[in-house]
Amino acid sequence: MTSMSGSGNGVNRRSAVSALLALGLCGAAPARAAPAVYQDFWIAPRELWVYRKETGEVGRYEYWRDGQIQLEAWYEILHLLRDVVAGVAIHYDPRAIDIVWGVQEWIWRDSGRRHIFRLSDGARMESTNLMIKGASPVSEHLKGHATDGRFEGIDLNVYARAARSFRAGGVGLYKAHVHTDCGAIRTWGI
Ligand SMILES: [Zn+2]
Repeated sequence: MTSMSGSGNGVNRRSAVSALLALGLCGAAPARAAPAVYQDFWIAPRELWVYRKETGEVGRYEYWRDGQIQLEAWYEILHLLRDVVAGVAIHYDPRAIDIVWGVQEWIWRDSGRRHIFRLSDGARMESTNLMIKGASPVSEHLKGHATDGRFEGIDLNVYARAARSFRAGGVGLYKAHVHTDCGAIRTWGI
């Protein structure tokens, strides 16, 4: 099982720093002389705070610690990400969750506030995907690669641009949510 460990693949720390600086997130602390650089960012424990509106489920899941996936929390996340129409959970690529966690963590470190992730869509069976108008027949949601959602109190544009800065997959900006996935690098709607 692979995950973003800062060893080269996946999320690029430097680009995340510069993008978030450009977004002005560090501007919330004008007394700071220099931007913070978090050397431990991709080796620190990863705890995702998430809320699923259709089901009312909410939790804090520390799914990665000491270089490995924490299976109990991970399975809880997979359950939360399930296709709620079909009632089926599928395996997820951890990098899909690392993207969401990375944005949440960075905002927290810079602002001191954990903005909960409001998940609006995760895994999809083909039968569910067919019911969604405009959904790609090869959607990353079918592969356990994608999430749709937003961060409470964070502008959708900020989320989309921060996710894009990781260069870790696809980012799409919609009216009420941002789509992120760990597939090919591409953007739309931004
Ligand atoms: Zn999506």
